[in-house]
Amino acid sequence: MADLPAPPTPTLSAIYSAFETRQGDGFRDHLGASLIGKSCARALWYDFRWATPARHTGRILRLFETGQLEEARLVRDLRSTGATVLEVDPDTGRQFRVEAHGGHFGGSLDGVALGLLEAPRTWHVVEFKTHSAKSFAALVAKGIALSKPQHAAQMQIYMHLTGITRALYMAVCKDTDALHIERVPADSEIGERLLEKARRIIFAQQPPERISSDPAWFECRFCNHHGLCHGEDPAAVTCRSCLHSTPVEGGWHCARHDRRLDAADQRGACPSHLFIPDLVPGEVTDAGDDFVSYRMRDGSTWTNDAREEEVAAC
Ligand code: SF4
Ligand code: SF4
Repeated sequence: MADLPAPPTPTLSAIYSAFETRQGDGFRDHLGASLIGKSCARALWYDFRWATPARHTGRILRLFETGQLEEARLVRDLRSTGATVLEVDPDTGRQFRVEAHGGHFGGSLDGVALGLLEAPRTWHVVEFKTHSAKSFAALVAKGIALSKPQHAAQMQIYMHLTGITRALYMAVCKDTDALHIERVPADSEIGERLLEKARRIIFAQQPPERISSDPAWFECRFCNHHGLCHGEDPAAVTCRSCLHSTPVEGGWHCARHDRRLDAADQRGACPSHLFIPDLVPGEVTDAGDDFVSYRMRDGSTWTNDAREEEVAAC
């Protein structure tokens, strides 16, 4: 009898790799309300500028899917209490969506609910989340604001932009299926502060300060942008990392070619691309219309030369 292949089996690898193939390019068109509570503004700026594509393993992608699949069950559970739960906006047939800052900031609600036993006449923003046992225990012990500030921020933005005054956070523990439910009142001051944070990040031409200059800082160790922020990894070449691009109302604009950039343009960039200098691990020593020269951190020199690229592309 042939020996069984050592784990992981080809079938397991194929399942995970199917998830990886479907994950797209790792760039999100807008700054997401679900992320605005992140503690490091620089990481959010890198996200928005597509500095490093988000890549996840097949196992993690499957875990994300578990969270999405759980939502239908949580809706059913809520409805079993007599509540009305709308997952989509009856006017559009799509998820309820909020947007601000010329469409560069936004997010989609899991749903809205009316007829909750705690406050039957008040509409609530509904947010569903799945948790590990450890995360769930912290949530139960400390509440959402302290244990999951990112989720709390997401709900404040949803309430602020919809005008709904209450949110219902419904969490499930993936290990035990225990539920945790918490109602959160809208706080317009927090909502305004978060909106302003989003505005600063979207329209900043340079990255905000690092949350820590120590590459071993715990938030940095888990950050997708670690290699770029603390090391020498190059940023992705797209219009978002180009010094000629600016976010404008409803899209992006290229000053070099004086034209609007659609999502496909932004992904493709063009031969005139020049990195925003803060994305290069060096110091600017010279610059012209189509080039920027650097002294790199290791002492070498490098010229980001769009003249050569443009000639080569002709
Ligand atoms: S590596 Fe650290 S400082 Fe840099 S973006 Fe990430 S969290 Fe912020
Ligand atoms: S110069 Fe090219 S890469 Fe830069 S923003 Fe314009 S189109 Fe994009």
